[in-house]
Amino acid sequence: MLRQVIEVEGVDLTLGEGAARVHVLKTVSLSVDQGETVALLGPSGSGKSTLLMTLAGLERPDAGSVRIDGRDLGALSEDALARFRGENIGIVFQSFQLIPTMTALENVAIPLELAGKSDAFERAEAELEAVGLGERLSHYPAQLSGGEQQRVALARALAPDPLILAADEPTGNLDSETGAAVIELIFAQQRRRGATLVLVTHDAALAARCSRRVLLRSGRIEASERAPS
Ligand code: ADP
Ligand code: MG
Repeated sequence: MLRQVIEVEGVDLTLGEGAARVHVLKTVSLSVDQGETVALLGPSGSGKSTLLMTLAGLERPDAGSVRIDGRDLGALSEDALARFRGENIGIVFQSFQLIPTMTALENVAIPLELAGKSDAFERAEAELEAVGLGERLSHYPAQLSGGEQQRVALARALAPDPLILAADEPTGNLDSETGAAVIELIFAQQRRRGATLVLVTHDAALAARCSRRVLLRSGRIEASERAPS
């Protein structure tokens, strides 16, 4: 029996204030098994990023529940949620979101150190080597290409060996060749670690490589199909 790593149930979420209020997620339910690769698809504004942030514990739903590895995120205090997220969910954004005043090594190591890992710098170095950046440890983000910055972000996301890797259009700021290399790296790391991948993408070919495709439209899941195995 595969473990259900993600259980989103009846999630509703409204964002914004006053006239700008938007009902972004409408009774969204989604269960994902360990090791699945899920492509989140849908038009711009359909709620893909918000669903990803919600299942990653970065947005709290107004109604419904999110369970990760059996843990109800809604029952956790902010501190406990932050700790749980740090240990279990790695996130990669389209815009890399590295800290510009830190080297590549520090970007990966400091979060590990803050999480109390005594071997933070050794682990960070190993993670950067695993994404092919062993020669770039002391470089600052501005000294790295976009593809290299995204690989640092990937190393940072994977360093705690999370159950889930959440990636929001990770190649959106990269040219197609660089993006393809980053995608190969994401899939290779996902397989090696047996992690569960949730990937927001507009790329149909990429979605076809995932074990599961989930289509969002206007904040609802319109279709969800598993690839025949
Ligand atoms: P997608 O990633 O599919 O393009 P998003 O999840 O980013 O969609 O956004 C879904 C909808 O929610 C959009 O209409 C967007 O404008 C709205 N939205 C997202 N974040 C906020 C926010 N903080 N305040 C108000 N509206 C928001
Ligand atoms: Mg988005």
